[in-house]
Amino acid sequence: MSERRIDDYDIVIVGAGPAGSAAAIHIGNLSPETARRTLVLEKAVFPRPKLCGGGITPHADALLHALKVHPDVPSVPIHAARFVYRDVGFCLRWKNLFRVVRREEFDAALASFVMQRGAALHQNEALVDYRQEADGLDVITDQASYRTKILVGADGANSLVRKKLGLVRSDRISRLLEILTPVDADRTPEFTEHTAVFDFSPMADGVQGYYWDFPSLKQGAAVMNRGLFDSRVHPERPRADLKRVFEAALERRSVELDHLQGHPERWYDARMRNSAPHIVLAGDAAGTEPLLGEGISHALNFGMVAAESALRALRLGDYSFRDYDRRVRWSALGSRLRFKRRIAQVLYWGKGAWFYRLGFGLIGLVLGE
Ligand SMILES: Cc1cc2nc3c(=O)[nH]c(=O)nc-3n(C[C@H](O)[C@H](O)[C@H](O)COP(=O)(O)OP(=O)(O)OC[C@H]3O[C@@H](n4cnc5c(N)ncnc54)[C@H](O)[C@@H]3O)c2cc1C
Repeated sequence: MSERRIDDYDIVIVGAGPAGSAAAIHIGNLSPETARRTLVLEKAVFPRPKLCGGGITPHADALLHALKVHPDVPSVPIHAARFVYRDVGFCLRWKNLFRVVRREEFDAALASFVMQRGAALHQNEALVDYRQEADGLDVITDQASYRTKILVGADGANSLVRKKLGLVRSDRISRLLEILTPVDADRTPEFTEHTAVFDFSPMADGVQGYYWDFPSLKQGAAVMNRGLFDSRVHPERPRADLKRVFEAALERRSVELDHLQGHPERWYDARMRNSAPHIVLAGDAAGTEPLLGEGISHALNFGMVAAESALRALRLGDYSFRDYDRRVRWSALGSRLRFKRRIAQVLYWGKGAWFYRLGFGLIGLVLGE
C-alpha cells in the first residue's frame, strides 16, 4: 500500500459509471473551477467489464447531448421492438428506437470526458470507508485519505456509500441474469431487421419482468445479449426460480445456458432517503425504474441532479442536503421514475394468462398486426 496522504477536495464522487461520470462532466460544464477541485474514485480500470444489455435510449442520448459529450463507440441501431406474451404479441416500429452498445466501451469513452472537463479521475482506487468530521468528511480509500465537503455516492446497486448510511433494504431490489452468445448476423433476424425482443412469457412462471434478446457487437463480432429481468416490484410475492426460467426460455431458442452472470438493480422509491449531511446518492446507488430496468438514462440524469445540488450546496455553504430527496422527487427524473414504477406495478400485477393474452392481443390489433 502506498503512503497515505490527506488531500482536500470540494467534491469526491465514488464510481465512474454513467452516474458518476455525468456528475463530474456536469460540474465541469457549469463550474470549471469546482471541477478542478473534484475527484472521481473508480475501483476498476477502464475498459472494465459491466453486465448490461447496453440499450441506450433516445432519452439517454438527449442527456449526453445536454452534457455536450458524444462517446464515440460502436453500436447496433434498433428500429423495431417485438413485445411477446406466449403466442401473442406486437411489434413497435420506429427508426432509432434505441441503440445497443457494449458498456465496457461506452463507460470508458464517457469517463474520458471527466478528465477533459478538469476533474481528477483515480482508477484502481476503491472507497473503503468515510467518516463524518466537523467540517466535512474524511474519505478513506485503499490507497489514501481525502478531506471533502461533499461525497457523491455513484457506486452502483451494491453501493458502499449507501450501506454505510444504513439505508439498504432488500425489498427494493430487481434481479437480472445475462449471457452473451455468438451468432451469425446474416442469418439472425434481430440483426438483419434491427429488432430487439421483449418476451413477457416468464410472467407465467412468477417473474415480474421479461426475457430480452438484444443484437450486440463484441469486439466487432455479432453476439446476442440475452437476459432475464425480474423487477420484484411486488416484493411480497414469492420469488421465481430465475435460473430455471432463464434456462427454459433459452431452450425454446435452442441456446444453452453458459457463462451465466447476474447483477441486481435497486429500484427508486420516493419514500426512501438518498441523502445525508455532506452526502448524496445518484444512479443505481439511489435507484432506477422497475418497469424495464432501464438505468443508463436515469443514472446520467441522477448524476446531473446530484451535480447541481452539490454546486448549490457549495454556493450557499449549506451541506445538509435537506432538500435533495424532495428535489429529486419533483424533478423530471423523479416524475419519470415514479410513473414507470406505477406502470410496472400494474403490468406485473400477477393477473392470469388471459389478462396478458388479451392485453397483448388488443395492442396487436390496434397496431394492425
Ligand atoms: C444485466 C443488466 C442489464 C441491463 N441492461 C440495461 C440496458 O439495456 N439499458 C439500460 O439503460 N440499463 C440497463 N441496465 C441498468 C444499468 O446497467 C445501470 O442502471 C447503470 O449502469 C447504472 O449506472 P451507475 O453509474 O449508477 O452505476 P454503475 O454503472 O454500476 O457504476 C458504478 C461504478 O462504481 C464503481 N464502484 C463501485 N464500488 C466502488 C468503490 N467502493 N470505490 C470506487 N468505485 C466503486 C464501479 O466499479 C462502477 O464503475 C442493466 C443492468 C443489468 C444488471
